[in-house]
Amino acid sequence: MEPENSFVLKETSLSNNCPECYSKSGLTLKFNQLVNDNLLYSANSKTTISKMHCKNCNTEIFPVRWTEDIERVVAYQKRALQLKPKALKLKPLAWVILVLDILIIIAVVLVMTGLINF
Ligand SMILES: [Zn+2]
Repeated sequence: MEPENSFVLKETSLSNNCPECYSKSGLTLKFNQLVNDNLLYSANSKTTISKMHCKNCNTEIFPVRWTEDIERVVAYQKRALQLKPKALKLKPLAWVILVLDILIIIAVVLVMTGLINF
């Protein structure tokens, strides 16, 4: 299951021993980049979360179980990450507010210049 409001940025297999089953070929590390999503817009955030999973014993390896070697590899992988740009997308509600603002400004200008009289 993917965490909400995020996408898979990078998935890589590690050659470290699994802390649970000691397999040397099961560990995969996955980075997800979070997306700020609200009523008005969505944009990629600069926050990433990582998850480690062992295919061999089918266990999620939580950071408390990481060895020093694993921590080093994760830190290295994290530094090498290339985050996706912000990619701001306005939602329909944001456009409605923008258009309403513009209409109000136009109306105020028309009234002030005397082109419209109430
Ligand atoms: Zn394992």
